[in-house]
Amino acid sequence: MGKIKVARYTEPTPPRRTIREDLMRVLMTDLSDLFSGKTGPVDDTTPIADGGDAGLSEELIVDTTRLAEDMIRDAVRERATDIHIDPQSVGSRIRLRVDGRVIDTAVLNEMQTHRLVNQVKTLADIDPVKTFAPEDARLTYELDGNLIDIRVTIVPCVTGEKIAIRLLDPQRVSSNITSLGLNHDAESELKDWLAGVSGLFLVTGPTGSGKTTLLYALLHEIRKHQRSIVTIEDPVEYQIDGITQVQVDTRHGLTFAQGLRTMLRLDPDYLMLGEVRDAESARSAIDASISGRALMSTMHARDAVSTLSALRNWGATDLEIAVSLSVVVAARLVRRLCENCRQECPVTDEQKKWLAAMGVPSPKKNFTSPGCPSCKNLGYLGRTGVFETWRLDESDYDLILTGVDEHSMRKHLARKKHRTLVHDAMDKVEAGITSLAELQSLGDVGGGGR
Ligand SMILES: [Zn+2]
Repeated sequence: MGKIKVARYTEPTPPRRTIREDLMRVLMTDLSDLFSGKTGPVDDTTPIADGGDAGLSEELIVDTTRLAEDMIRDAVRERATDIHIDPQSVGSRIRLRVDGRVIDTAVLNEMQTHRLVNQVKTLADIDPVKTFAPEDARLTYELDGNLIDIRVTIVPCVTGEKIAIRLLDPQRVSSNITSLGLNHDAESELKDWLAGVSGLFLVTGPTGSGKTTLLYALLHEIRKHQRSIVTIEDPVEYQIDGITQVQVDTRHGLTFAQGLRTMLRLDPDYLMLGEVRDAESARSAIDASISGRALMSTMHARDAVSTLSALRNWGATDLEIAVSLSVVVAARLVRRLCENCRQECPVTDEQKKWLAAMGVPSPKKNFTSPGCPSCKNLGYLGRTGVFETWRLDESDYDLILTGVDEHSMRKHLARKKHRTLVHDAMDKVEAGITSLAELQSLGDVGGGGR
């Protein structure tokens, strides 16, 4: 477990130099002058913080954690979820992950890299001496009045130290489930389930598919119902008031399984297990949900039905699955087309072939966004979820008890007009929320989803 500290940020006087340049606009610009503090992007009306009043030399001011802080501020403004400082043979490259894509933002020389790396280490309370083993630190950082949880990971590489900074903005997850992109039916199904208390609720998808965001949004939803909620996570990504959150600590014997046993003694209405990822956690999840608790968790699985094989592979019997499995939501995140420059466009022949290969009819409409100033010429702005919600019913349980394979289960669901990821994705293409091109780049929305 990383260190936790709260760094207080207060606006200093005299006015500080900040990186006012938009990082996105200076793509791949060499920021050498800017970071060296010699010709920073200071507008002429701002007095330079030459330390006159404060009695500090310029060098001292530059050597505080200011560069790191400015970098974090820029990243937050650009809605980035991660900052990467990638060492190169000389200097480094700064990249931001925005809407799931990594965007190059700056190239730093060796001196600037050295400073920035040291500042990040100072901020994270990590020993500034060059590290030879991976280091991990967690801190809550107050930036311009907002608290941001930050996780800093430093890994020594051949070319230097690679730093990854994950920005966990609590405001991003406090959104209610309506804003995630769930359609009306799926949403009312989820709320329905939340009202009752039993069974296993799984959110599936690959890494970065919005599983955790959805789970946290559900926790927020449940919290409104005055229920007792206990979570066990590895690591705790977002701290939520009013919820008991326990972090896995294997060094001290606190595994998912051990944690779950302890959690049951805390008399929870809802249990949340960070991830079902092996036989042990699957066993714990099933045992807890069979004992009459509502247990929510995430799992790596391609679509809703794929959870059957995953659970079986981890040793769950068909009877246990039928008794415990209540709701499965498969999730993906897609980028939203920029509404400012969005325009209708035809479905290309190649896209028609791609859809036909999956057995999916072409959407009636398709859109594209060529890019404009408001989307910084990316064509996309923000992301939304694509979902498949499977609330199991008696006919599904009967089939599971016969040991049904995934293929037959999908055919059974198709006969019941079950809506898969592809159906939801196509609705969002026709509505101009996302594009076929985006779905193609994602690759697996169609896979197994029919
Ligand atoms: Zn645009």
